[in-house]
Amino acid sequence: MATTASPWEPIDPLRCRHCSALLARVGPLAVSIRRGGFEVMVTGSDATLQITCYRCRASHTVKTGSPLEHGTRPG
Ligand SMILES: [Zn+2]
Repeated sequence: MATTASPWEPIDPLRCRHCSALLARVGPLAVSIRRGGFEVMVTGSDATLQITCYRCRASHTVKTGSPLEHGTRPG
């Protein structure tokens, strides 16, 4: 609660569960995907994204508007 994060600010890193590549940043109501100069921001309370890892091709499903439970928090 002491952070400046807003629901619209995707700050939580989503890493590939197989190779740990950084795939996206996730917030409660937004997901941001950035590769080089290319960036996609998805916002909404009920969005589902299918993200394929650029390294190992593993498939991940990310939902906004639900508790963050991807279990890849650092630490
Ligand atoms: Zn991967």
